[in-house]
Amino acid sequence: MDSLRPENLLRSGYKDCVLCEVPRPGEEERCRDCSGRLDQRDRLLWEIRRERIRKTAGILSLVYPGLGHLYSGRIAFGVFWAALLPLSLVLVLNVGSGITFGHGVLLLEAGAIWWMAHVDARRGPREPTAPCEGACPAHIRVPDYIALVREARPLEALALVHDMLPFAAFCGRACPHPCEQKCVRNEFGAPISIMAIKRYAADLGYAAGITPSPGESGGVRGPRVAVVGGGASGLSAADTLARLGTSVTVFDRYPEPGGMMRYGAAEFRFPADALHSDVDRILARGVRFRGGVTFGRDVTFSSLASEGFDAVLIAVGAREALRLPSAGGEDQGFHDALSFLVRVRERRFPGVPGHVVVIGGGNAAIDAARCALRMGASDVTIACVESREAMPAFAWEIEAAVSEGVKFLPGAAVKRFLLKDGRVTAFEALTVERVDLDPDGSVAPRTVPGSEFEVPADTVVMAIGSRADLSFLPDGISRKPTDPGRRVFRLQFPGGEPKIAGYMCGDCVLGPGSVVEASTSGREAALNIFADLAVEEVRGTRYKDNYRRRPEPQVTDRPGWRVRRKAERLSPEAARRTFDETETRFTDRCAREEAERCARCNLSL
Ligand SMILES: Cc1cc2nc3c(=O)[nH]c(=O)nc-3n(C[C@H](O)[C@H](O)[C@H](O)COP(=O)(O)OP(=O)(O)OC[C@H]3O[C@@H](n4cnc5c(N)ncnc54)[C@H](O)[C@@H]3O)c2cc1C
Ligand code: SF4
Repeated sequence: MDSLRPENLLRSGYKDCVLCEVPRPGEEERCRDCSGRLDQRDRLLWEIRRERIRKTAGILSLVYPGLGHLYSGRIAFGVFWAALLPLSLVLVLNVGSGITFGHGVLLLEAGAIWWMAHVDARRGPREPTAPCEGACPAHIRVPDYIALVREARPLEALALVHDMLPFAAFCGRACPHPCEQKCVRNEFGAPISIMAIKRYAADLGYAAGITPSPGESGGVRGPRVAVVGGGASGLSAADTLARLGTSVTVFDRYPEPGGMMRYGAAEFRFPADALHSDVDRILARGVRFRGGVTFGRDVTFSSLASEGFDAVLIAVGAREALRLPSAGGEDQGFHDALSFLVRVRERRFPGVPGHVVVIGGGNAAIDAARCALRMGASDVTIACVESREAMPAFAWEIEAAVSEGVKFLPGAAVKRFLLKDGRVTAFEALTVERVDLDPDGSVAPRTVPGSEFEVPADTVVMAIGSRADLSFLPDGISRKPTDPGRRVFRLQFPGGEPKIAGYMCGDCVLGPGSVVEASTSGREAALNIFADLAVEEVRGTRYKDNYRRRPEPQVTDRPGWRVRRKAERLSPEAARRTFDETETRFTDRCAREEAERCARCNLSL
């Protein structure tokens, strides 16, 4: 029996070791030294250990160039760096005729060697990655999962995505997909539809009822962790911690998990069923969820410490909506986009009489405008300070909004709102000549004096940004980044009380971003927590991830590969009348043909 056939995979129980589950023909090399028992936990432990080795190697290389390389097993590099330094020092000493400019240059060179050796030891060996893989914030093995789809093995493709990103259904539908911008096929027609292929694998995998194995290590190990916030970052951290075998509980002030994926992104882009697929798989790992609990009010650092938790991860997002100071309340016709979208997702539709104007140029503005159309608004306009090209919303979402009938008023800033009988009727706008950024990063439109004009508005939805509400953090608490990218913070309590380790990740650290970025930050936070609190477990790591790719000749172009397949979409007329998903999944044939276009660049590097 071929245990890797999808049907057999399910029969024998889905075992989610990515390395063992997804052998690539011709790449058997990578499992050479594995005892055959490398499971998900071992893989993550090896990731933590590798990071630790790199850190130590970096420090050792500051003591003497090359020492770190020798420590991490890169013998040839170690010898090379170690030999370079004496060479340049000998050159300095050999110039016996007094100090010259050349001495200075040689000394500088010696310093540069020292520093470069440190940087190289800290970074570790570089694996060749395809451009798409390098551009993906989660570094998913894109060419490998595309190859699995081509071979009609979508379940394994999904397993490979899950290794780095638990939100395959979301990111198969609504990811900013920077991978496609970097795809080499841009030079030969059009990029691979990577996002649509991911959605295909996710839909098929979830429909087949794929559930994660309970893990081969068994039992609860490591620290007890409380995650505050059940959005992309919190759930991703919980998923990784559960894979490591720890006991993890997610707290959220909303009754259901999902954060902005559930309550923000509009239903016609990300339907509830798809959300359940992603979230239920995480909960199936044994992650506990406690909804309707607000951190700072119902639970605190101290109360969680006394409940026996060893660490708290703050992943509360950045969803406190910003409002224009002159805007009024809902009874006057003003809404903020986030509360508006939450109500739409919960089917408690707010009234949208007359002309609806959405202020802002991001994804929340586009979602709110498209929702307003579906709720029967006769006329919806998006007004923003940016030009149409500079709007921060995804270009394809702007296109969809235009096709459905949303109007745009770019380059306009609100000067004041005009009210009649206690309700908004219009606003006065000024033309924006350019948009600057203030030192704190906030948008500062420069307007043209005397360019006032009036825009009718009976309902105003503000989508001008959001920020994190961290008012629950005790005074004097300090935050220290755990990584150079500043994606995760370690919290230090004043006076060392309460006795619980604190961390922060996701949008509340990065600022409003995307699910893939928040999820990556959550995964990193989980690895950091485990590394800090389960030192012995990491020290005992036995297996090594020996993943090695074998080079293959690359076929760059074929005439049939120039055409990019697209999934079917509802017509704009039909779309604006329904909250049903507007885009369908690839058919089997379409997915295979699109996957065949991939050049598997990783194998030619
Ligand atoms: C309208 C909209 C559309 C978007 N569209 C896209 C898109 O198409 N593609 C994309 O990639 N990204 C999109 N995003 C961004 C994406 O949703 C976020 O970047 C991502 O969800 C951030 O994850 P997070 O876990 O950091 O925060 P969140 O998802 O915001 O989750 C934070 C969670 O913490 C909870 N919480 C907050 N405070 C407390 C407290 N004191 N106690 C307990 N719980 C608390 C909240 O209830 C929430 O569930 C969109 C965002 C919005 C608002
Ligand atoms: S052709 Fe395939 S491997 Fe190469 S960048 Fe595009 S998706 Fe990635």
